[in-house]
Amino acid sequence: MKMTDLQLQQIKDQLHRINRVDGCFYKEKLKGFDIEGIRSQEDFEKLPFSEKADLRDAYPLGLSVVPEEEIVRIHSSSGTTGTPVIIPYTQKDVDDWSTQFARCYEMAGITNKDRIQITPGYGLWTAGIGFQLGAEKLGAMAVPMGPGNTEKQLQFMVDIQSTVIGATSSYALLLAEEIDRRGLIDKIALRKGIIGSERWSDKMRRRINHELRIDSYDIYGLTECYGPGIGIDCPEHNGMHIWDDFLYIEIVDPKTGEVLPDGETGEIVLTTLVKEGAPLIRFRTHDLSRIIPGECACGSHYPRIDTILGRSDDMIKVHGVNIFPNQIEEVLGIVDGASSEYQVVLDRMNNKDVMTLLVEKEDDADDGALREEITRKFKSRINMTPVVSIVSKGALPRSTKKTKRVIDHRYE
Ligand code: ZN
Repeated sequence: MKMTDLQLQQIKDQLHRINRVDGCFYKEKLKGFDIEGIRSQEDFEKLPFSEKADLRDAYPLGLSVVPEEEIVRIHSSSGTTGTPVIIPYTQKDVDDWSTQFARCYEMAGITNKDRIQITPGYGLWTAGIGFQLGAEKLGAMAVPMGPGNTEKQLQFMVDIQSTVIGATSSYALLLAEEIDRRGLIDKIALRKGIIGSERWSDKMRRRINHELRIDSYDIYGLTECYGPGIGIDCPEHNGMHIWDDFLYIEIVDPKTGEVLPDGETGEIVLTTLVKEGAPLIRFRTHDLSRIIPGECACGSHYPRIDTILGRSDDMIKVHGVNIFPNQIEEVLGIVDGASSEYQVVLDRMNNKDVMTLLVEKEDDADDGALREEITRKFKSRINMTPVVSIVSKGALPRSTKKTKRVIDHRYE
């Protein structure tokens, strides 16, 4: 994607800000680079990448490039793998984030007359509070439920008549199933869904839309870069628009780091343009997508990226074949009788990888025929044969956060 003159200037201003702070991690990283010498996109592309591990090394507050008194809050990305990453925010960062999130709601046709039931978690995590900031900026009514407590969620959905649900796709599906089971669909007033924080298949989207009678939108973001709300899909549902007045986006080859032309799939790399507390320079997200060339039919000029295909580190390797979760979802998407819900279990037996694919079926599907069809399509599209096991609808675990779909027992 072509970098604009304004973006280049903003990035240079940001590099100068970083360079003034002794001991900040980026200053160390950029040692030896002549910032004044950066005159073009090509010059910028010579800057080193930053990785989540770099950010983690700056724990606890080494990412900050502003004086202590300008920091108004911190957030932290999930610490499931060791030390968390702590991101400091100035008031401008918080305001910029709320502007971006409010823009997401507007893109989805949500107004100040809507009532937004927010089910993602609050706290160090950026999810719940991002939904809240955007709702308040828009002037809508935030219903800050937080995660879990499905009983109360449903009660509020009926009594408050929430018109928008903010949720992970797993939790939206769980709520849809519960609403169906209790026959509540005519008692609720939902019309839109803002679904974020995990990748979801088209089949799952169609099912959530159908069962909740909503139009749902895919929101993008990560804690390292404000949080959710840096992009969303539009009513065309053909890619997510990214707010390029706050971010510069690149797609690079995950192996070589080479910048790829628009349209080619690779890893999303983000550079912030005006972030004060913790700017990001060429941050590798490990999310896989592509820039969709051309203008969107909706008329918005913000550039688009495709639905996130997965994470470069979500790839499963079975007998030397690389498999991404979205490929499995594509197979299930074209098999009648298969639902969107699946789980992969990997074992090692007699020195061989064994992949078991558990798939939930639709109520009326025949187990034998379904197993055969999935095995056949899997073999023809992904070129390996898993052990397919059909289970009944609702048998696999649901989560209020992210559903764990791959269980690897091979190296235990
Ligand atoms: Zn659009």
